[in-house]
Amino acid sequence: MIESDFENRIVSTTFGSEDGEIEDSLRPRRMEDYIGQEKAKENLKVFIEAAKGRGESLDHCLLYGPPGLGKTTLAGIIANEMGVNLRITSGPAIEKPGDLASLITNLQPGDVLFIDEIHRLSRAVEEVLYPAMEDYAVDIIIGKGPSARSIRLDLPRFTLIGATTRAGQISAPLRDRFGVLSRLELYEPEELRDIVVRSAGILGIPVEPEGAMEIAKRSRGTPRIVNRLLKRVRDYAEVKGNGIITREVADYALQALEIDALGLDSIDRRMLESIIRNFGGGPVGLETLAATIGEEAITLEDVYEPYLLQIGFLSRTPRGRMVTPNAYQHLGLKPMMQNAAEQIRFQE
Ligand code: ADP
Repeated sequence: MIESDFENRIVSTTFGSEDGEIEDSLRPRRMEDYIGQEKAKENLKVFIEAAKGRGESLDHCLLYGPPGLGKTTLAGIIANEMGVNLRITSGPAIEKPGDLASLITNLQPGDVLFIDEIHRLSRAVEEVLYPAMEDYAVDIIIGKGPSARSIRLDLPRFTLIGATTRAGQISAPLRDRFGVLSRLELYEPEELRDIVVRSAGILGIPVEPEGAMEIAKRSRGTPRIVNRLLKRVRDYAEVKGNGIITREVADYALQALEIDALGLDSIDRRMLESIIRNFGGGPVGLETLAATIGEEAITLEDVYEPYLLQIGFLSRTPRGRMVTPNAYQHLGLKPMMQNAAEQIRFQE
């Protein structure tokens, strides 16, 4: 990842150092406190109740969607509702098959093992996971060379919850072993407003409903961003106002942070403007675009694109990314003639 702008980006959805403890304190622990994602919640509630009724562990679940939407939080809630422990790890942290084997052999019956970024598991590690998920067993090789032999250890029944920002990169054998697949969607402004109000309550920040809504509208559909902006806006409210987050204070603070009315920051604008100025509005391949603006293609795809696609500023075509007329309008630019025909097709 390129440090510069992305690391400092106030609307970044990755886990920043300042987030740690506060983010934990803001995490809902029960399903009824988890705002939005009604479809995923409804299904999970049924599966949890049914598993509990039968005295079984919950089926393995795969949660997917952009970063900061609440996948880790949901895994914690599931463990809580099932009344079991949660063990958290991530794909890149499990380097060797032995690391995973020792992790799963130490689980208690029913425990939830959460693997974030599960698409980044190595093939060798994945192969340990298959029998673990399917047969609750792990094959361990003892010795080396011709005298090596494999013994099979039985595991307690556990629940694997995998999280990924890129479901498409999960191998078919792994994907097939999940009983529940749940896609998390970007949040609506009203849902994010409720999250602001909830978080402000926990942190003791006075916030007016209009102030909460202003932050919500400019948080790119993402709870992690809404919580981060709430904390920054509070600073402005305390220093420049009387400590209460009103709509005016929120607007002033967000403007000072260069976050515009739709939540776009300087990097979003640079991405859109680069497509317009350097590539005539597109189409342009993701790798080329990434190189032009000095970000990684993966970062563009996981972090920037989902929201720009959602608000209809960007469109994915087989030949690459294109900026839509709505984006030109937002940026105060005129669509270029050469792409006029294609852009008109977009609008239709
Ligand atoms: P992910 O694992 O998808 O990157 P997290 O579970 O770490 O996202 O969520 C980021 C933060 O957003 C958490 O600290 C939590 O406080 C907040 N959050 C996420 N989803 C919700 C929700 N549905 N309701 C309230 N807060 C949420």
